Amino acid sequence: MKIGVLASQGAFAEHIAKLQQLGVEAVPVRLPGELAGLDGLVIPGGESTSISKLMRHYHLTGEIKDLAKNGLPVLGTCAGMILLGRRENGADPETLELMDFTVRRNAFGRQTDSFETELAVPALGEKPFPAVFIRAPLIEEVNGGLEILARLADGTIVAARQGNLVALAFHPELTDDLRCHRYFLDIVAEYRKK
Ligand code: GLN
Repeated sequence: MKIGVLASQGAFAEHIAKLQQLGVEAVPVRLPGELAGLDGLVIPGGESTSISKLMRHYHLTGEIKDLAKNGLPVLGTCAGMILLGRRENGADPETLELMDFTVRRNAFGRQTDSFETELAVPALGEKPFPAVFIRAPLIEEVNGGLEILARLADGTIVAARQGNLVALAFHPELTDDLRCHRYFLDIVAEYRKK
């Protein structure tokens, strides 16, 4: 199993390390040729406008969209989640528009810029997930076939799945808990069987 981690900008090294801990081959992706032969792709957190611009500059945007539309599993975390959602009225960043939601960027305001919380994510089992939020977005408007994976206590959506695409507002690569990555790899394993 070979997983690519988009390495244009942001927390890609941490994702690669987690995936390697789980025993899979994980490679950085900066150029379109590096997308060949992948079984899954991770789009990390960072700065979504920068990642979006770099993706376009290196001709990755169209390629990633096509692969995902053909079923390639993609995990987007934080800025990566923003890039999976719909774009709002031509606003920045230009997203991949693969998942049926819009986001509110930097949704938690200054006081709670970053925080960690024990998040209930039923798909990962009973034990809550130590979710680290850093200038995080939240999922605002949801349409269609989106499966909600987690909400904060106030009801805001912070994790969702649509087909083989998974969006997380938090940073699973910054904790020791590997369950989010394992959850994604299970989707990849199913996809490889087909
Ligand atoms: N605030 C960033 C953005 O809007 C995302 C933050 C992150 O990925 N930790 O792009």
